[in-house]
Amino acid sequence: MPVSEVFLSVQGEGVHAGTPSIFVRTYYCNLTCTWCDTKFTWMDQNTSKPGINYDPLTHDQLMKKVLEYHPCKHLVLTGGEPLLHQRVLAPLLSSLKRSGFFIEVETNGTIAPSPETIEYVDCFNVSPKIANSLVDERLRIRPESLPPFVKSEKAWFKFVICNDEDLSQVEDLISRFAIPRERVLLMPEGIDAPTLLERSRWLVGICMQKGFRFSPRLHILLFGNKKGT
Ligand code: SF4
Repeated sequence: MPVSEVFLSVQGEGVHAGTPSIFVRTYYCNLTCTWCDTKFTWMDQNTSKPGINYDPLTHDQLMKKVLEYHPCKHLVLTGGEPLLHQRVLAPLLSSLKRSGFFIEVETNGTIAPSPETIEYVDCFNVSPKIANSLVDERLRIRPESLPPFVKSEKAWFKFVICNDEDLSQVEDLISRFAIPRERVLLMPEGIDAPTLLERSRWLVGICMQKGFRFSPRLHILLFGNKKGT
């Protein structure tokens, strides 16, 4: 398993924001979002070319690292795009479940979860990318991949919002994929506290008008845009 980092922090985004969590961040992503705050999982920061900066960890090595953070039992599998590795992840998810962990997976929604993944995971934080990511729509929206998340009834759908123009795309995706409105979160784009706070004040008002949940980015507000947080 190519692993970028394993660390203890608080979940910064989504419905479990504020929960002390062990983060397992896998390497590689299948998208290249312009505002990605974890480019170190897919790009060499010095050369701006595809990177290979990861630790190849076995199942046992990864379990050992995770268990070092006892008594935390909330695990966030993130990336990059963790579901690129879901075939080799299955035994890890199974072991974590047997050890009593609550498992969240953060994904861009372009890879359908396997039945095994759905069985072991407690909560999917699906973040389909919209045009502000500057990724081609054929790559970022995969019509065969989003419906299994909706059907699983374990998914929350979080959209990164920069401005008013982004909101119509969210509405389009909700109706196209029958995403339950009450499972939608809007999160401001921003990798520094002043930008985030300004956009948060604006976006909270939109959420109240339209009946969406608001997602903070606590880790950016608390620690800045740093690895290991
Ligand atoms: S999908 Fe996530 S990890 Fe991948 S490039 Fe976009 S923001 Fe970064």
